[in-house]
Amino acid sequence: LDVVRAVEPRIAAAIGSEIEDQRASLKLIASENYASPAVLLAMGNWLSDKYAEGTPGRRFYAGCRNVDTVESLAAEHARELFGAEHAYVQPHSGIDANLVAFWAVLSQRVESPALRRAGVRNVNDLTEQDWAELRRELGNQRMLGMSLDAGGHLTHGFRPNISGKMFDQRSYGTDPATGLVDYDEVRRIALEFKPLILVAGYSAYPRLVNFRRMREIADEVGATLMVDMAHFAGLVAGKVLTGDFDPVAHAQIVTTTTHKSLRGPRGGMVLCTSELAEHVDRGCPLVLGGPLSHVMAAKAVAFAEARRPEFQVYARQVVDNAHALAEGLLRRGARLVTGGTDNHLVLADVSSYGLTGRQAEAALLDSGIVTNRNAVPQDPNGAWYTSGVRLGTPALTTRGLGTAELDEAADLIHTVLSATSAAGSSKAQYVLDEAVRDAVAKRAVDLLAGHP
Ligand code: PLP
Repeated sequence: LDVVRAVEPRIAAAIGSEIEDQRASLKLIASENYASPAVLLAMGNWLSDKYAEGTPGRRFYAGCRNVDTVESLAAEHARELFGAEHAYVQPHSGIDANLVAFWAVLSQRVESPALRRAGVRNVNDLTEQDWAELRRELGNQRMLGMSLDAGGHLTHGFRPNISGKMFDQRSYGTDPATGLVDYDEVRRIALEFKPLILVAGYSAYPRLVNFRRMREIADEVGATLMVDMAHFAGLVAGKVLTGDFDPVAHAQIVTTTTHKSLRGPRGGMVLCTSELAEHVDRGCPLVLGGPLSHVMAAKAVAFAEARRPEFQVYARQVVDNAHALAEGLLRRGARLVTGGTDNHLVLADVSSYGLTGRQAEAALLDSGIVTNRNAVPQDPNGAWYTSGVRLGTPALTTRGLGTAELDEAADLIHTVLSATSAAGSSKAQYVLDEAVRDAVAKRAVDLLAGHP
């Protein structure tokens, strides 16, 4: 940090403070983790300075031999780790990976004269007339994905995201009685809507999805099955999700982030069958510029780590810890969406404490517990205030916490929420007993002390 401090001390201070925050608080955000020093160091180096548009062996810049090594190894590790026919490791983020995947399916499937003329190599070659034609064609393309309040992601065809502008979107929710995906209902909507792409995958669904069943539905309606496994990629890599629950075995195209349960650097990736490979590899220049060579190096290191037997132990522990957290909360009287968890996350409905998600999130943060608010199915408080708090175990499991400690974490969460009340009719303001706050913050520090 001294090197940074000499140039811009405020940035050095923010980095130092972030390290302290991450050390001192219970990190229960389901999409976060702690990457290893090997991953971080593979990312913080001179590879960052290199331009390498193109793919290994076919670059638009000279001097790319080291980047070729890095990208080829990252893709090889990814293919081996997930049993995929093809891996594209350039996407900078989950959103990029999804855009690359959507366009790959469109360019493979849509009989588009405009796309054919442009060869989807360079959208800059499209004429105004091509664009008009394309908009008409794409406007007719349909995507079916999980609804946001059931746990789907914005990039699965929702309005504020470009995917919602590219596609005519419909969504499937969960059964109001059980909170689970109802495959007969997904099939019914698919038969009626006839989507080009059926998207499975989620950010806040605490159960497993049967991808074999999803593929059957996709095949029946002639859709391509795309799974966004951003959240649970670590559980796939760690062989917790196998058989019907292994997305790579069933979907034609699978996208992911690399920084969540997979514990790599911040980034994205697309896995696909060989038929889709050439379309996926056109991510650059379609939506990506120069790949982040340093991040691809860190992806290679993270995938190599995930291929070790220890990672399977880790992935199993993530799920065991989530069970312990869920059981601990239920035993103390909390209400959980679907009544529990089968994966790495728990969605608590905090309306049973008389709170909005926003109030609960803030009160927990005051007490040294970092979470994020999240809508619950049919949430009366909408996406901003919400009625839920999402909790995940990938980060604390990396630190070495086990089931007994996650039960203690459940006690801390329940204690804080029980000592918090809404201020009047506000959905944001709250009153938290200060003695409880300080006692819980101290217990959180003690809980982490054994796992620096
Ligand atoms: N897909 C899913 C299922 C996600 O949960 C997320 C992020 O939370 C993304 C995609 C987007 O990832 P990124 O933030 O890297 O763009």
